[in-house]
Amino acid sequence: MDNSCNEQVTREIPAEMKRTIRKRCGFGCVVCGHPIYEYHHMIEWSIVKEHKEEEITLLCDNHHKQVHKNLLPTSIVRKFNSKPYNLDRGESSPMPLYFQGSLFKVIIGNNEYIADDSPEPIFNEKVPSCLLMIDMVPIIYIKFEDDQILLTIKLYDKNNKLVLRIIDNELIYSTGHWDITFIKNRLTLLEGKRQITLGIEFSPPSQVHVYNGKIFLNGLELNITRHDLKIVNYNGVVRDNHIRRSKIGLYIGIEPHPGLMGAAFTIIYTDLTRRHKVNNWIPPFTE
Ligand SMILES: [Zn+2]
Repeated sequence: MDNSCNEQVTREIPAEMKRTIRKRCGFGCVVCGHPIYEYHHMIEWSIVKEHKEEEITLLCDNHHKQVHKNLLPTSIVRKFNSKPYNLDRGESSPMPLYFQGSLFKVIIGNNEYIADDSPEPIFNEKVPSCLLMIDMVPIIYIKFEDDQILLTIKLYDKNNKLVLRIIDNELIYSTGHWDITFIKNRLTLLEGKRQITLGIEFSPPSQVHVYNGKIFLNGLELNITRHDLKIVNYNGVVRDNHIRRSKIGLYIGIEPHPGLMGAAFTIIYTDLTRRHKVNNWIPPFTE
């Protein structure tokens, strides 16, 4: 039996070496790009008996098993290792998330927004619940379809480039980060050592917690910690919100949105000069 990947036998790969390997492999399985992976020694541990960074690659559970069943030869793994799936495309391959039920909770910092599948009261029809909207651009919203919950999250960097998107439960992240880890149910994007760009915890079937990091849109900067959400450009703080059954949870933006009536929390800013400069403005209702 090949036990080259047994961590008890091989001992732990040093943390910094792991990060180098993750980045080199595009933060996913080198064959298919899947964000959940294992470290694989391309030369058996029993032969090398040391960790050589260039001889370790990332494989998802499925492709790892294929290697150990002799269905995926090392020569082909090496080919993928030299041209990892995600690096070519600049982003991870989509990973499905699984949500269901009639209630959904999004926590941003320590603010809780709970949506349910009741119809919109005025028109008596079901509309998506938007739990975070900035400049009339939906950032986090959900749809209830039968028993399934479809979550969409679009998070941008300071240049209005998407760093992470979940479209109807399909998660994709851009691979241009210093590090990305997916430990248990927590996805962390980092721009440097201990510099977290984004920390998200997925708790299916009905909860997502954005507990750390920065969210940008159109030069507006939000800084999130477990204690609060700061609107950096305007010295605003949002904390201790518990909002339920509002079709829009938190709105931060340049103008009031007509559909905001009944929204639980509204902040309106017109002083655009306090924002960071951006070349491309993301227009309202960008889908
Ligand atoms: Zn794979």
